[in-house]
Amino acid sequence: VRILEAELAWFRGKLERGVQVEILEDGTIGRVGRGLSSTPERRPREALFPGFVNAHSHAFQRVLRGKAERYGEATTSTFWSWREEMYRAVADLDVEKVHELSFLAFREMLRSGITTVGEFHYVHHLAGSFGFEMDQAVVEAAREAGIRLVLLNVCYMTGDVARPLEGPQLRFQTRSIEEFFRASDELLARLDPLTQSLGLVAHSLRAVPIEAVVEIHRRARREGRVFHMHVEEQKKEIEQCLAHYARTPLALLLDRLDLGPETTAVHCTHSSEEDLKKLLATGANVCLCPLTEANLADGIPPVSLAGASHQLSLGTDSNLRIDFTEEMRLLEYAQRLREERRGIFTAEDGSVSARLLGIATEGGARSLGVKGGRIETGHAADFLTLDLDAPCLTGLEGVADDEIATAFLLGAGDRAVAHVAVGGAWID
Ligand SMILES: [Zn+2]
Repeated sequence: VRILEAELAWFRGKLERGVQVEILEDGTIGRVGRGLSSTPERRPREALFPGFVNAHSHAFQRVLRGKAERYGEATTSTFWSWREEMYRAVADLDVEKVHELSFLAFREMLRSGITTVGEFHYVHHLAGSFGFEMDQAVVEAAREAGIRLVLLNVCYMTGDVARPLEGPQLRFQTRSIEEFFRASDELLARLDPLTQSLGLVAHSLRAVPIEAVVEIHRRARREGRVFHMHVEEQKKEIEQCLAHYARTPLALLLDRLDLGPETTAVHCTHSSEEDLKKLLATGANVCLCPLTEANLADGIPPVSLAGASHQLSLGTDSNLRIDFTEEMRLLEYAQRLREERRGIFTAEDGSVSARLLGIATEGGARSLGVKGGRIETGHAADFLTLDLDAPCLTGLEGVADDEIATAFLLGAGDRAVAHVAVGGAWID
């Protein structure tokens, strides 16, 4: 048992002085309060926050940095042409490369203050194989990097709605729902129960027929696991779904699945206000990936989501840039630009830091089904510390303690993150 005291700590939605945090042997938080110890482990000139929770990542897509950004003749100008580029990258992947890319992405996340990642993992096989060789590489990379992992194991059966898989898409394939459950069970047996867990995932309605989606979701609920799915990122997905099912993806899911807090719909960029309201009323979550959605020119998600921010989470998705404060800023600023008004994700006291931080921590933990995202008894001792002497925070005379969090989120990049801890252990 150790007692930790930083100069400031994010406690009950604001930064406070003198708060001590007890860290138990099992890597969770014990007591939190003042005067627990006269000789705590001190972190002077640092502010302690819960670590960020990244609810949606495809680690291997980091390989596309700089590659899928040439426009004109060799065009990469839409999501769909970007997807072709991504498929070309997939064709070159082997186990070592997946391991390396995952490790690099996870280390970069830790440096950005992210202590938990939900890895939405769909590149399962070597070329010409159905052996799920890549799965273990992702799990090992997370363990070596030291990040907490929720492996969102993805079922992928069709190339687009009701179309067979072709080319590099075969690397993603689960040939039957039985095979998907068997592979998921095998993966589960190899996870470290202290820092790793499993979610059951249908990639999207483009990639999984609705009957199989129903089965995966039902099993996730029965086993107490989270269920994630890409939903309505692109208008074409909605059109394909309307043509085949005569329903939009979200309307179909609302109709066929008994949705609840175990479910996270990723993106919802083109969802109707009416469907979104119904989705949120079930207790389900929405994960937004502002940097990737901007890079892929997906669109801006509906501002009505701001009203349900405790059901929102953030993801680094394509990992073309890994900076969680930037995800928070873009979430807020895209809506400001559209609405021509300031202050979208505002709390009762009018500040934006509490809700943006809540989305980046508690919201992610809720979406991934982990007990974390808060400095509170019983939660994982996963932290980031902010360097109070970081260049971007110096010279701010007159800034109150509770404004430092806002200065961090709006004025700093991930370089202001000094240290991270997972399960109470500081990571180099
Ligand atoms: Zn995604």
